[in-house]
Amino acid sequence: MAERAIAHALALSASRCAYHVVVEVERSFQDVLEANEAYVSGFRLKGLQATAARGLAILTCMDSRIEPLGMLGLDPGDAKILRNAGARVTDDVLRTLVLASYLLGVDRAMVIGHTSCRMFANTEDQVHEAIAEAGGPDTRSLSFLMGTEQNEAIISDVQRIHSWPYLAHLKVGGFLYDTDSGRITQLC
Ligand SMILES: [Zn+2]
Repeated sequence: MAERAIAHALALSASRCAYHVVVEVERSFQDVLEANEAYVSGFRLKGLQATAARGLAILTCMDSRIEPLGMLGLDPGDAKILRNAGARVTDDVLRTLVLASYLLGVDRAMVIGHTSCRMFANTEDQVHEAIAEAGGPDTRSLSFLMGTEQNEAIISDVQRIHSWPYLAHLKVGGFLYDTDSGRITQLC
């Protein structure tokens, strides 16, 4: 079944892409797709509701050291997870929280930054330079929302949610996760 679906997907892709690109893309994801086969054989989340069972939304960084469910004793289905670089409250986060709060059972939100976050260790200029040095394009037209005072940034991001009329009813807290100990400290 899965093989047929993959063959179909590849056939569709091949009509749009050069063959070598398709093969390369397929190989790029082989490890995780094989792991998914094992996941499917033991799948246990069928029937789970789309609403957040614990009424919780979590905004945290994309940092791969963070385990959003495990660090809070949550299970799949309990919370909506939003992630970006630095756990910053962007327009897209606000948009998503509106949907989560009115349609998906969310009545509280945690903004969780973390220690040793690169988004608070470099300046915008340093990141643009680092990308260029890594062979990337000139990214100076992008804002990466770098900061220097992380705790203040978390607190002001929480305030941004509080002060947005669409989300005035939401309970929101700001937190810092320690990547060395796993401990979460509440800031506001
Ligand atoms: Zn980070």
